[in-house]
Amino acid sequence: AKKRGRNRAEIFSENLLAAAIHTKRSSDELLVAIENDEIVPFFQPQFDARTLDIVGVEALARWQHPTRGILTPDKFLDIAEGLHRSGDIDAIILQKALFQATRWRARDLNIPHVSVNISAQRLKDETLLAQVESLNIPKGSLSFELLESISFDGQDKALRSVIGQLKELGIDIEIDDFGSGHASIVSLLDLDPKRLKIDRRLIMPLQASGSQHRLVASIIEIGRSQGIEIVAEGVETMEHVEILRNLGCHALQGYAFAKPMCAESFVQFVENWQGE
Ligand code: C2E
Ligand code: CA
Ligand code: CA
Ligand code: CA
Repeated sequence: AKKRGRNRAEIFSENLLAAAIHTKRSSDELLVAIENDEIVPFFQPQFDARTLDIVGVEALARWQHPTRGILTPDKFLDIAEGLHRSGDIDAIILQKALFQATRWRARDLNIPHVSVNISAQRLKDETLLAQVESLNIPKGSLSFELLESISFDGQDKALRSVIGQLKELGIDIEIDDFGSGHASIVSLLDLDPKRLKIDRRLIMPLQASGSQHRLVASIIEIGRSQGIEIVAEGVETMEHVEILRNLGCHALQGYAFAKPMCAESFVQFVENWQGE
């Protein structure tokens, strides 16, 4: 009854104001975090489905927050995007991941390739090609994961040209979250990707038979017929490992093997796995 004192429009605008203040605060904090070097890569290994050898690693952004601990991208990527700074985060992760890769080589760890996520913003950023060119990447050792939802359909010649130049510089292209968007298969295959990553929302409900099983089987079949490696992400159980091996999936990534880890823990993990 008393609450009726304020009308809905007032309450609504107070909530908006509170949200705006919150966003402003988080934005300022994130900008400081970028300056203070608090954005770091975590590493999650990928395994050959047959031999269980490590075939690669995905670098995933984390915010080492001074008071809140390690924050995952759902806590800051949207904010970064709103600030037009998600490209900066990609650039930081790429640079730091490659720095770690030099340490792995120095310790004789065998990690055939590193994958980083590249946002649409970063892909459109002219400094991307310059950054990659300055890095002198050995062919096949670095791949860029591009979301299926980045529109490759339309007539986006500019994007295709950037991708073509990245490939000339030795970068492999992977389509991330494959099967979750609406991009046409033809337009994706036209990019000549090295790998397709099956979206974890397709892997989670996977069973030994049934429609989900047929769907995943047909994606793997497309990969085989086109010479594209298929990576399953979000592989959480040994049952899924078994099913995906039997389907001929190339590589597996998920909690069944390892969660994303800080650089130090990742080195220890690999040393154990490779029997050092
Ligand atoms: P993604 O690229 O699809 O990355 C896979 C996500 O699944 C990661 O979440 C990973 O921690 C999580 N994951 C891995 N294995 C399992 C599993 O077995 N079960 C479940 N439930 N989840 C698993 P994370 O690290 O929170 O990243 C979320 C998303 O944020 C990523 O999804 C990616 O789209 C984006 N992201 C992360 N790092 C970067 C970056 O440096 N740049 C850009 N542009 N985006 C990034
Ligand atoms: Ca990814
Ligand atoms: Ca993914
Ligand atoms: Ca995803």
